Amino acid sequence: MSMTAQTVWDNCLLFIQDNITPQAYKTWFEPIKAVKLTDNALSIQVPSKFFYEWLEEHYVKLLKVSLTKELGESAKLVYVIRMENTYGNRQPFTEKIPSTNRPSTMKSQEVDAPFKNKNPELKNPFIIPGIRNLQIESQLNPNYNFDNFLEGDSNRLARSAGMAVANKPGGTSFNPLLIFGGVGLGKTHLAHAIGVQIKDRYPEKTVLYISAEKFTQQYIESVKKNNRNDFIHFYQVIDVLIVDDIQLLSGKAGTQDVFFHIFNHLHQNGKQVVLTSDKAPVDMQDIEQRLLSRFKWGLSAELQQPGFETRVSIIKNKLYQDGVEMPEDIVEFLANNIKTNIRELEGAIISLIAHSSFNRKEINLELAKRIVDNYVKHTKREVSIEYIQKVVSDYFQMDVDTLQSKTRKRHIVQARQLAMFFAKKLTKASLASIGSQIGKRDHATVLHACKTVDNLSATDKQFRKYVEDLNKKLTM
Ligand code: ADP
Ligand code: MG
Repeated sequence: MSMTAQTVWDNCLLFIQDNITPQAYKTWFEPIKAVKLTDNALSIQVPSKFFYEWLEEHYVKLLKVSLTKELGESAKLVYVIRMENTYGNRQPFTEKIPSTNRPSTMKSQEVDAPFKNKNPELKNPFIIPGIRNLQIESQLNPNYNFDNFLEGDSNRLARSAGMAVANKPGGTSFNPLLIFGGVGLGKTHLAHAIGVQIKDRYPEKTVLYISAEKFTQQYIESVKKNNRNDFIHFYQVIDVLIVDDIQLLSGKAGTQDVFFHIFNHLHQNGKQVVLTSDKAPVDMQDIEQRLLSRFKWGLSAELQQPGFETRVSIIKNKLYQDGVEMPEDIVEFLANNIKTNIRELEGAIISLIAHSSFNRKEINLELAKRIVDNYVKHTKREVSIEYIQKVVSDYFQMDVDTLQSKTRKRHIVQARQLAMFFAKKLTKASLASIGSQIGKRDHATVLHACKTVDNLSATDKQFRKYVEDLNKKLTM
């Protein structure tokens, strides 16, 4: 029996069918047509370039084994990519065509499959090869959502603008929504949360999260591969485009240009754009003016450093999610010492938990201090007057309001004097400023308090113990 492309392929299919799930077989092998057999090379026609890439990535071994069985060790497989109708008159991909004799009438290209299990050259990670319509994988991280993005004064505007956008993408004046702020303050988290919520409410919308860095790489690749138009087209069909860290576009004129066009297209078509940046638009450098002005069309919302209360709730929420308990004073110690970066705060919590569980030691202040020092090594820890009052009032089991009150009760007066004493000792604040922060007293009161504490600790043993305990708590 003479071998034809069809018979060889049919035999391969029998083997393949035995080795994969029916679903995979139906999806990836039924649509293939055997088109040509010359010597030991079988040509198969696949519906798209993505299809080809998928086969190469997932089934190359199977194809090789089955084909070798049929045609011997020197078997070769040639893919013919038949462009789908939906691609209309668009230029076919050209990047992988070896300089062979391609029939010019056929909109197809032949690709030698070298059976090298290398990554296909241009892998668009966002495309799940589908035979009919291409789906775009959102690249969203469901762990970053609104539920676990805790609200505080520092993020209220950005968070609620994000919510508004998520509830009505493209339908608010926040387009683009630009979220900006320092490192580790939640830009990426919030950007994902918006996307996740949109996907939740509008599953049919195409949402894409991408870092500006990856966007740039893809763009450069597309220029190399001569398919810049495909790149642009890909981005133009998206309903909600989220680009993280756009400050990274600075100095990259080509990428900025292409982004400008994509942006305009999306914006004109009522699609939502969400951007993040570590700088406010005015401070962005080497970004074209026309792009900067686009960024300002919608709303720029800043994520600021969270206040003490917000830091405490972020820590507690994190501990709760991890199912870990931690004494209150340690939570406050962490919140008080790591202020400018939530990622570092989380990092410190994680190492604290790890240290204590590996070494079977309980989490105590001493361990917390060691770990915090690793995180804020170079900046000397400075305690705030706020924190001092908190520690002192906790120590005497009263609340801060009581400590600040006008009462003359002796133990409250003493607590207040101790707070003033430590504020003078441990901060650079002036007497006047200390006074005004601790119950609106004047500088003379603070001075008097410092002297009293000095005197009492020299004469009163019990009182000296208070000073020593508090000193430990505050400076350790
Ligand atoms: P950025 O992108 O601004 O550098 P991230 O979004 O990566 O910061 O945030 C750093 C870490 O802090 C993440 O783990 C994030 O979940 C957490 N985080 C930031 N803001 C909040 C918040 N408001 N509530 C809870 N976690 C937060
Ligand atoms: Mg980020």
